[in-house]
Amino acid sequence: MDCIFCDIVSGSVPNHTVYQDENFLAFLDIFPHAKGHTVLIPKAHRDNFAVLTDEETSGLALAIKKAMEKVQMVLNPDGFNVGWNEDPAGGQVVPHLHVHIFPRYNGDGGGSMHSIIKNPSQTPVNELAKKFV
Ligand code: AMP
Ligand code: ZN
Repeated sequence: MDCIFCDIVSGSVPNHTVYQDENFLAFLDIFPHAKGHTVLIPKAHRDNFAVLTDEETSGLALAIKKAMEKVQMVLNPDGFNVGWNEDPAGGQVVPHLHVHIFPRYNGDGGGSMHSIIKNPSQTPVNELAKKFV
């Protein structure tokens, strides 16, 4: 399978590693949206978050924390936004799960998660809630 992130894991494409463990690799994004913008991937190809096993999900959470600690130690940002684009509708371009770690700096002009989308349902929240019961 042709996958740029699998090529990074295999070493055929170079990367600037931020953190790694047995199962996860974090490296600097080549088109950074912030100083220290890092992407964290499972070393095994996984299309998206939805296909992870429970064990992989736990490992991912720990790897995110470790990568954030490394960025904190090296660049001392004031905060972070952390998340991933899940599937093309969510903005995912590279079809190998990757978590974006955006270091944030006071006054950097960026927004919050709420700036990603503003398209609420026409259905009132209390009506929508009935579907979840
Ligand atoms: P997404 O839009 O969530 O699929 O994000 C893909 C990200 O991967 C983008 O931020 C790209 O800049 C980044 N990216 C693509 N190729 C590479 C590469 N070879 N090394 C580092 N980052 C990359
Ligand atoms: Zn891959």
